[in-house]
Amino acid sequence: MAGEPQEDCLFCKIAEGHVPATVVRETETTMAFRDINPQAPTHILVIPKAHYPNAAELAAAAPQLVADILQETGNVAYDEKLESYRVVFNTGSGAGQTVFHAHAHVLGGRGMQWPPG
Ligand code: 5GP
Ligand code: ZN
Repeated sequence: MAGEPQEDCLFCKIAEGHVPATVVRETETTMAFRDINPQAPTHILVIPKAHYPNAAELAAAAPQLVADILQETGNVAYDEKLESYRVVFNTGSGAGQTVFHAHAHVLGGRGMQWPPG
């Protein structure tokens, strides 16, 4: 069922504390932790604790959680003292999504190209 933990989902396991992660922030509904393979000096993932496969399905089913996540991306940037940063929701394997539990990447601490390629 939408929002229920999935047994085979890595980020559900992190949200439940069953897989370790370097957690930097946590709220009732969200968790933020450092990416294991950072693509920038700051690379933090912000997830809803509830399972939704991608950002669009999250937005359709639980829009308040999208607001919670975006609020937390701002809080992460503040904590990390990022003046400029990028928030990315990869959606679909063709766009680079590899973990099918919605998450925002917060990337900062280096210059960024636009368009991203
Ligand atoms: P995606 O490619 O789905 O947009 O992002 C998934 C991200 O999760 C990748 O940047 C990847 O490095 C990160 N990741 C994969 N496995 C783990 C893990 O076990 N722990 C942490 N902290 N990050 C992970
Ligand atoms: Zn999940």
